Amino acid sequence: MSSSKKRDYYEVLGVSKEASLNDIKLAYRRLARKLHPDVNKTDPQAKEKFIEVQEAYEVLSDENKRRNYDRFGHSGVQIDMSDIFSGGIPGINELFRSIFGEFSPFGGFDDFGFSGFGSRSRRRAAPRREVGQDIEDHIEISFEEAMFGVKKDVLIERYTPCDACEGTGAEDPSSITTCPECQGTGRIRKMTQSGFGTIIREAGCNRCNGSGKIIEKKCKVCNGSKIVPEQKTIHVEIPPGIEDGIHLKVQGAGHVPSVNAIPGDLYLGIRIEDNENFIRRGNDLYTPIDVDIITAIVGGKINVPTLDHKEKKTTEKELTIPPGTQPGTEFRIKNRGITYLRGRGRGDQYVIVNIEIPKKISEKQKELLLKFRELNK
Ligand SMILES: [Zn+2]
Ligand SMILES: [Zn+2]
Repeated sequence: MSSSKKRDYYEVLGVSKEASLNDIKLAYRRLARKLHPDVNKTDPQAKEKFIEVQEAYEVLSDENKRRNYDRFGHSGVQIDMSDIFSGGIPGINELFRSIFGEFSPFGGFDDFGFSGFGSRSRRRAAPRREVGQDIEDHIEISFEEAMFGVKKDVLIERYTPCDACEGTGAEDPSSITTCPECQGTGRIRKMTQSGFGTIIREAGCNRCNGSGKIIEKKCKVCNGSKIVPEQKTIHVEIPPGIEDGIHLKVQGAGHVPSVNAIPGDLYLGIRIEDNENFIRRGNDLYTPIDVDIITAIVGGKINVPTLDHKEKKTTEKELTIPPGTQPGTEFRIKNRGITYLRGRGRGDQYVIVNIEIPKKISEKQKELLLKFRELNK
């Protein structure tokens, strides 16, 4: 690839010239997830694009290289991509593990879980506690459960450190040795000769996957991956008045990538089933109700569905229809609406009258109605 044909690195990653390192990492990650040959099997040019993205990332994520690139363009940085992937393109998990220190044991490339990102610094100078990825899940609850609140058990699948090896990945502690390739640093410096001189490039150590350690005998339970999938039941208390689409955060119920890591969180999306008796508007409920024409004219009593917040169920309440009730009339039943999520109190219920006009009447009824019309004049 000649320099003149190369695309601008910022353009390749889709970031601005002022992008922070974090922006660059995020952009890289997003593109790598899309273009990595493990993932993208449809675009015939995915591999080429992926290598272009990798190259842009190699330069822009490195302070010195980026400065040179900003000043001198492509001629300021010499990168031989055939060298970077001399051993073939690493698997996406391996790649992300070496760059971001993360791992997805379920082989999925879930679109959330960005929280693990950037949590372990590339260089070990300032070790920070690793943060596990978040889990996003959802549950569907009935309208009544949403109105009165409910306790739910949610079964989640996450990964946690392997118990058998205490998260080391080794069968026993004596089988962990320092990587001879990188002397335990996890990084390898490579020198390459090119027409422009000697290029020194640093990359993650392939032998130890950037961990600096070699495990002679792998743990049989986790096969050396240090983590195992776990199914866990999470108890969630859903408060009364919850709205459709809200995400409840359950702290610490996400993935646990290592023994000392801060677990990720669970974000539980709430979906509420529709209910034909109640329409929700803010904290109030609207109930359309059919009233027969005679009751509307002469008055009477009808039963309407309403929420009994004490008994936590839907019941019926008798409602008096005064004579001469018009279509669209609203009757308010105080305090039978939705419990405020924040603060105290509850909304109201509005019953909206729809007057039923009979579609068919008998000859006798017609006769009487015509008489009624006479009297009405
Ligand atoms: Zn190594
Ligand atoms: Zn293990």
